[in-house]
Amino acid sequence: MSQLDRAELAQQGALRADALRAAGVELVALTFVDNSGITRVKAVPVDRLWSAAAWGVGASNSFDFFLATDDIVGGTHSRGPVGDLRLHPDLDALVPLAAQPGWAWAPAWRYDQEGDPHPQDARALAAAATARLAELGYNARTAFEIEWVVTRADAPDDPRSATAGPAYGYARLSAQAGYLRKLVSTLTAQGIAVEQIHPEYAAGQFEVSVAAGDPVRAADVAVLTRETIRTVSEQYGLRASFTPKFAPNGVGNGGHVHLSLWDGDRNLCAGGDRRFGLTETAEVFGAGVLSRLPALLAIGAPSVVSYLRLEPHHWAGVFRVWGLENREAPLRLVRGPAGQRERAANFEVKCFDLTANPYLVVAALIFAGLAGVEARESLPEPVDVDPGTLGGAVERLPASLADAVTAFEADPALTSAFGPELAATLVDVRRGELDRLGALPPAELCAVMRYLH
Ligand code: GLU
Ligand code: MG
Repeated sequence: MSQLDRAELAQQGALRADALRAAGVELVALTFVDNSGITRVKAVPVDRLWSAAAWGVGASNSFDFFLATDDIVGGTHSRGPVGDLRLHPDLDALVPLAAQPGWAWAPAWRYDQEGDPHPQDARALAAAATARLAELGYNARTAFEIEWVVTRADAPDDPRSATAGPAYGYARLSAQAGYLRKLVSTLTAQGIAVEQIHPEYAAGQFEVSVAAGDPVRAADVAVLTRETIRTVSEQYGLRASFTPKFAPNGVGNGGHVHLSLWDGDRNLCAGGDRRFGLTETAEVFGAGVLSRLPALLAIGAPSVVSYLRLEPHHWAGVFRVWGLENREAPLRLVRGPAGQRERAANFEVKCFDLTANPYLVVAALIFAGLAGVEARESLPEPVDVDPGTLGGAVERLPASLADAVTAFEADPALTSAFGPELAATLVDVRRGELDRLGALPPAELCAVMRYLH
């Protein structure tokens, strides 16, 4: 949405409010995700939905400079406490919250008071990336995998407090069967198509995967899924931690992104004459992502704690390689079973985590892929062993946030697609986090970040 038709929005808002009221909704939560990956919220009574739709709800410009710790940093485009933006609910994405009776949720667009789109609106950037793809005749289907560690609310630092069962163990599932069932039924009632749920490798860890769809919708689903997990966890006396690294040792929580490129209803990741059935377009798109992974980490692994997770041999993908079904490759080609590939084949980006803003993530991946298409980049030889065993033959991705930020600053495709204000502010915010958290010992860093995202 770029032009506000206020009369039309007021009318649509009033209509939606009637339907929500009939469903028992009294309040609507409007969210946006900030540059540090935190979902921030304002809420309005359902009777004010028309006004929020047409005129927005006030929100400070300073949110762009928030860290996950709620410290506010300065920056080139900061106006400090001065200025106001307007949050406009996307009425097409409005949904009643099944585990929070009387509430509905809508992701918001951010505009200024004059009705112009805010240049740091991540959701608008994701929509612009999707529109750019469409102009070129393509579309993308994306999905986020959510991994989280569940603890008992009265023992939030003990990852075995809610379930002590082994990795992928049935005992872990049965210990929390009621919780998991409630979670899936809640997600389903909110229109989220759950495809799988299972105990993961790390202590107390679970994962849910959902169906792929339009990139903006996929980012919305990532936000709603996470907030639903948080809510349902609280109702079961549990806490959910989405941090990349719950404790310094062990495996982390990833936020893997699946992306397939389509021409109409033809999946370009399958049925082609390139390696593993890729089409030429999908291959050059994948090459654009692979070559930019160092810069992309500043978007997809955007916190200091992200780099505790990014270690070799942890299925997080830390060498700049791709491979077929290689879980140590940050760019993993997933083909799916023979007979289903036309629908299922996709690229999985594994090095990202859930401190990332999902809207920025889908935008960055699409712009990176398109840069690859434009420059006809090519994918190198795929790697079919653990790249961590190949020594200096493979390039290590940035091992610190500082290095990722430097790579991002040096990447004209990403910085120009993001625009000067957003690109500069992301750099300011990342450096602000480095100043605030960069010197903390790992255990302290993990403790500070454990329940923020
Ligand atoms: N938990 C791992 C990570 O940090 C990923 C495990 C998997 O491949 O699903 O990304
Ligand atoms: Mg997993």
